[in-house]
Amino acid sequence: MAKLDSKVPKGPIADKWTTYKDKIDLVNPANKRNIDVIVVGTGLAGGSAAATLAELGYNVKAFAYQDSPRRAHSIAAQGGINAAKNYMGDGDSNYRLFYDTVKGGDYRSREANVHRLAEVSGNIIDQCVAQGVPFARDYGGLLDNRSFGGVLVSRTFYAKGQTGQQLLLGAYSAMNRQIARGKIEMFNRHEMLDVVKVDGKARGIIARDLITGEIERHSAHAVVIATGGYGNVYFLSTNAMGSNATAAWKIHKKGAYFANPCYTQIHPTCIPRSGDYQSKLTLMSESLRNDGRIWVPLHLEDAKAIQEGKLKPTQIPEENRDYYLERRYPAFGNLVPRDVASRAAKERCDAGYGVNATGEAVYLDFAAAFERYGQEQAKIKGIHNPSKEEIVKLGQAIIEEKYGNLFQMYEKIIAENPYETPMMIYPATHYTMGGVWVDYNLMTTVPGLYCIGEANFSDHGANRLGASALMQGLADGYFVLPYTIGDYLSDDIRTGKIATDTPEFDEVEKQVKDRLDFFINNEGTHSVDYFHKKLGKVMWDKVGMARNEKHLKEAIKEIKEIREDFWKNVKVTGGLNEFNQELEKAGRVADFLELGELFAMDALNRNESCGGHFREESVETSGPQKGEAKRNDKDYAYVAAWEYKGEPADAVLHKEELEFKDIELKTRSYK
Ligand SMILES: Cc1cc2nc3c(=O)[nH]c(=O)nc-3n(C[C@H](O)[C@H](O)[C@H](O)COP(=O)(O)OP(=O)(O)OC[C@H]3O[C@@H](n4cnc5c(N)ncnc54)[C@H](O)[C@@H]3O)c2cc1C
Repeated sequence: MAKLDSKVPKGPIADKWTTYKDKIDLVNPANKRNIDVIVVGTGLAGGSAAATLAELGYNVKAFAYQDSPRRAHSIAAQGGINAAKNYMGDGDSNYRLFYDTVKGGDYRSREANVHRLAEVSGNIIDQCVAQGVPFARDYGGLLDNRSFGGVLVSRTFYAKGQTGQQLLLGAYSAMNRQIARGKIEMFNRHEMLDVVKVDGKARGIIARDLITGEIERHSAHAVVIATGGYGNVYFLSTNAMGSNATAAWKIHKKGAYFANPCYTQIHPTCIPRSGDYQSKLTLMSESLRNDGRIWVPLHLEDAKAIQEGKLKPTQIPEENRDYYLERRYPAFGNLVPRDVASRAAKERCDAGYGVNATGEAVYLDFAAAFERYGQEQAKIKGIHNPSKEEIVKLGQAIIEEKYGNLFQMYEKIIAENPYETPMMIYPATHYTMGGVWVDYNLMTTVPGLYCIGEANFSDHGANRLGASALMQGLADGYFVLPYTIGDYLSDDIRTGKIATDTPEFDEVEKQVKDRLDFFINNEGTHSVDYFHKKLGKVMWDKVGMARNEKHLKEAIKEIKEIREDFWKNVKVTGGLNEFNQELEKAGRVADFLELGELFAMDALNRNESCGGHFREESVETSGPQKGEAKRNDKDYAYVAAWEYKGEPADAVLHKEELEFKDIELKTRSYK
């Protein structure tokens, strides 16, 4: 078995990062001026990295396919960002955040990275406050916190239901300052289509100007990939429609190992699918589970009547409701982690208790919260003997203050008022914990090629806790990469500019152009979406919330067949040298069709249930955990890092054994 070098520094876990930073090589300020860094992606991870690297003095070239960094998918993040500040005085600490994240990830992440994440989490909040990010504050003006799934403290900082947007505006202003100083050259509407290696090191990229179609060469001393996750391999997901895996997949094909592709997060609280012509799904933030209670009817006949439109949820009395999360997991109740909540919803719906016409929905009900907050408000306002209506109204005002924009969004999409009737929710693909394998320095297996944010295999193991993605992306961009990249670049202070008129650039540019030409000239019969939808259906049905050997083997075969059909029969309209979104999509779907197969192979290889990866063959059959996912630490406590060898089916598995020295491996119980 090949050994992957994670480069985790020696020493006690709490000192590793500090000691490491003190010892690594630095690049002096004058030399930084001679070094170029390409950052692909300007969401929270790439935006924060680009701004910080430029502030440090490097020459940064930043790329995004949108018309502005402000439109990165990060803008969609609603609920919040975690940090171990212990502002609520409820016993939080770096250790607790570290512990919760490792446990939440079902013991499939690298301890040293997660501890570092916890250590820098507080700095992120300070940085963002200094940028003017308007985090919610309590009555006294102090930063407010709320709680997310899988933890017993309140450590989530938030800006209403628009945390990602506000954080992105912060990172964007930091970038803009550097753009104005000439330290960042921003390439909007540019898509990286491949990486260029020179002498084994990443030295540049080939990008397409999406407006003119022109193919460009860009060189640098290091390349940072910050291109987000690959949830859209499922076709329908809560990701932005443009989110894709092309950059990550292209670097995989050039030598970067791809880790744990099967680790996907299916988020429990999304607006249910409404039909075949839908292009994306909408998330209802996990923060809603602080106040909403999840239930389905206790009796099948009630569920049937609801499905047929003959009964309303408000007509079902309390005793005929099954608050199944509170019933099954009394310690965490509605705030169990996402994987647990999603599977529990699927279990109830599969058993016939779903609450919409398709039978794939459960209720998220705020009636109890209206009453609780209403009672409180009545006391505060000195209203004696308030009527039920008065209480509900007062309570609704509080909920509106906390989640008003989410309620409004729900009403716009479903055309039902969630203040009057419970919301309907169902799990949907949301986030990918898998991604490009990186070492402690966030460097891939290709020297000089880094990967940060959701695009890397991240610190979340097999399941990400809510509000931890923003934390990780910003930790990588503001506080980790800017240190670790210097250690590598210190060898490049005398290298000088990297030329682009070389055979290495010629060759990759030709590969890129040939592929684009193929798409435009292929006389196919089906649209790109036709294939994407077919892939998505296989992924959801056979590599979705529950997986088994039979289905996974079928999926591998079917995805390969769809891919072969795609290359024969895809039809791309429009031209090469113009703005052509069909052409963009074609390249992205071609990559999803390869990634999907590796994803299913990885799921097949991992014959254990862990986090978001649930194998039906691996379930507890007795004891208090009966029916719950069963992890197998003896055989699977490793990161599965796949090496590309030509076809997805030929990929070679390398294992990074995970060592748990500071956290004891336990059964993950939320009961
Ligand atoms: C609806 C929703 C709500 C969420 N809410 C939360 C939350 O409350 N808290 C939390 O912690 N997490 C949340 N998440 C997860 C979190 O938002 C993401 O994981 C995170 O924002 C990803 O940031 P990123 O910088 O890694 O990638 P992104 O924000 O996806 O940015 C990717 C960047 O890469 C660029 N790009 C991609 N490919 C190319 C290419 N080939 N060439 C050039 N540029 C390219 C894009 O233009 C973009 O700039 C949520 C996710 C969703 C879907």
